Amino acid sequence: MLPEIASLLSSQKLLSQFKSKIMAIKKLKHITQICKELYEEKGASAVYEYANERMNQMPNGNVSYKQCAGCEAETPHWHDTCLICGS
Ligand SMILES: [Zn+2]
Repeated sequence: MLPEIASLLSSQKLLSQFKSKIMAIKKLKHITQICKELYEEKGASAVYEYANERMNQMPNGNVSYKQCAGCEAETPHWHDTCLICGS
């Protein structure tokens, strides 16, 4: 294999790894951003509704109820991020 082709292939591989990382970050922003906006527009109950829907659609997804120190309640979390207060 020509060295130029090998380096091109490896840079493409790096690029696709980079893209999937960006996608993961976008996803993170996505749900937390959605919930932030829902909370600001419609209040906490809208965030609970949205989170419950997510959990119904993806029972093994990244959204689950956890105790939040900031909210002093069991709230929907995306991983360890509270979707109500964002902490
Ligand atoms: Zn919270």
